[in-house]
Amino acid sequence: MATESELREAICEVGRRLWVRSQVAANDGNISVRMEDGSILCTPTMVSKGFMACEELVKLTPDGRLIGPGRPSSEALLHLACFCARSDINAVVHAHPPYATAFAALGRPVPTRYLTEIAVALWEVPCAEYATPGTMEVPESALPMLATADAFLLRNHGVVTVGRDLWEAYYRMETVEQGAKVATVIAQLGGAPAFDEEQLRDLAAIRRDSGLGVRPDDYNPGGCIERTVQGWGKTASHDNGGNGQ
Ligand SMILES: [Zn+2]
Repeated sequence: MATESELREAICEVGRRLWVRSQVAANDGNISVRMEDGSILCTPTMVSKGFMACEELVKLTPDGRLIGPGRPSSEALLHLACFCARSDINAVVHAHPPYATAFAALGRPVPTRYLTEIAVALWEVPCAEYATPGTMEVPESALPMLATADAFLLRNHGVVTVGRDLWEAYYRMETVEQGAKVATVIAQLGGAPAFDEEQLRDLAAIRRDSGLGVRPDDYNPGGCIERTVQGWGKTASHDNGGNGQ
């Protein structure tokens, strides 16, 4: 298991990669990791993910109370609810990669039936209902997605990916954006045939054999919204502004 200081460095590195790859602009996006003791490290509000210092990261209890200094983004609500609802995940990445975010603006899932990589890795990238940023509407809209998906769109907003560790969550973000980009080019070229049933069966078998897919036992969203609201209300210095979303 990685140490806290290794995880802090990894979060900063993922932030740099998101920024270098234009998956976030200005102070957009958030990254969080659940540590072995259950506490959560997350990115602070109002900081570009391309220029974070490891000591700036904020530490929270599982229900969202602040441990130590810093100001978490109001979008930490989303991350806390994801950790609560899915026992198998230890990292959440939220970004605004342009192609996938365009699908989010249209309320359309990212197509996953043209490329083997995205089909095997994610199977589906659904789109959640619209929610006002920084409010409990965001986790409320997101939690149903986690029943079956490890990556999903926030309507008119961006992308969320989760993983057993930070790198898995981050690579899923790359996969979503790559899939959205290729699907856009396919549409520009006049379309392509999707996988047939036999191909889908074979791809599903690869996923099963690779241990991918959400296991029903890992998804327990009951009480997660209430728990997050309660803990968050006791954190005095968080940010409710519109930045760092
Ligand atoms: Zn956002």
